Amino acid sequence: MNQAEKEATAILSKLNIIGPPVPVESVAKKMGATLIFEPFKGNDDISGILYRKDKHTIIGINSVHSETRRRFSIAHELGHLALHRKELFVDKVVRVDFRNRTSSLAIDKEEIAANSFAAELLMPRNFISKEISRKLSKRSSPLSKEKLINDLSKTFKVSSQAMEYRLNNLGILISQ
Ligand SMILES: [Zn+2]
Repeated sequence: MNQAEKEATAILSKLNIIGPPVPVESVAKKMGATLIFEPFKGNDDISGILYRKDKHTIIGINSVHSETRRRFSIAHELGHLALHRKELFVDKVVRVDFRNRTSSLAIDKEEIAANSFAAELLMPRNFISKEISRKLSKRSSPLSKEKLINDLSKTFKVSSQAMEYRLNNLGILISQ
């Protein structure tokens, strides 16, 4: 596990969260952040912001986005809160440009760390393996990849894309 993932794991264990879905709004509160949901009119591509001043921390989340997106954005901002010291982070919707590999790979280190934290916070690897063994033990027929991704994304309240990416990352799914 990298440092960001270790931080997320430590927070889950400190808050005694033992299974999915992770109550990310209450995690934010317990980490001392005030959540504000805003449509960010005229700024549709903002997914979330983190602002801290003295002892106050405010996380602003785009209220127009879907619930799974909002949950991921909260977890991402909590990653900045736990790992980084800057006073202000403004996160825009990431458009990965596959035609330009070098610039996509050179994303800011802090952004990679915040995403890594968010993935472990919302989809902890031990919760995932527990859920998968539980599902497999209840079935006699093989579970299709699509059904596995779909079921797990509902259980963890994340998007199916986020879950597929996570399973690939953990080596549970082999991407074709
Ligand atoms: Zn960020």
